Amino acid sequence: MNYIKILNIHSKEIESYIRYSYYSYSMKHTDTHLQQVNQHIKAKTPNGCEECLQMGSDWVHLRLCLSCGHVGCCDSSPNKHATKHFKATQHPIIRSFQPDEDWKYCYVDDAMIE
Ligand SMILES: [Zn+2]
Ligand SMILES: [Zn+2]
Ligand SMILES: [Zn+2]
Repeated sequence: MNYIKILNIHSKEIESYIRYSYYSYSMKHTDTHLQQVNQHIKAKTPNGCEECLQMGSDWVHLRLCLSCGHVGCCDSSPNKHATKHFKATQHPIIRSFQPDEDWKYCYVDDAMIE
């Protein structure tokens, strides 16, 4: 009886440990593409989306490409130039170019990076 009880406790502990490690793993997504980009790259067009500035169009939010410094507009913007830039160049990671936001996103893995 005691033996079974110990076993049960152990399997529960292992279970929660596995769940915990999976959780922390998925929270701290270390993206292999981060090694291919420059996280401190300078924006080519700090005033706005490169294509929208040329077209005279508007945007909602801005995204900075960490491969080449391209500034593009987000998917809530009418022209979605950040996503179009990825499709044209395969540059994997963007950073939010909003002053109050600090996150990165990998298009290839479809994952947010802390
Ligand atoms: Zn990635
Ligand atoms: Zn744009
Ligand atoms: Zn780029």
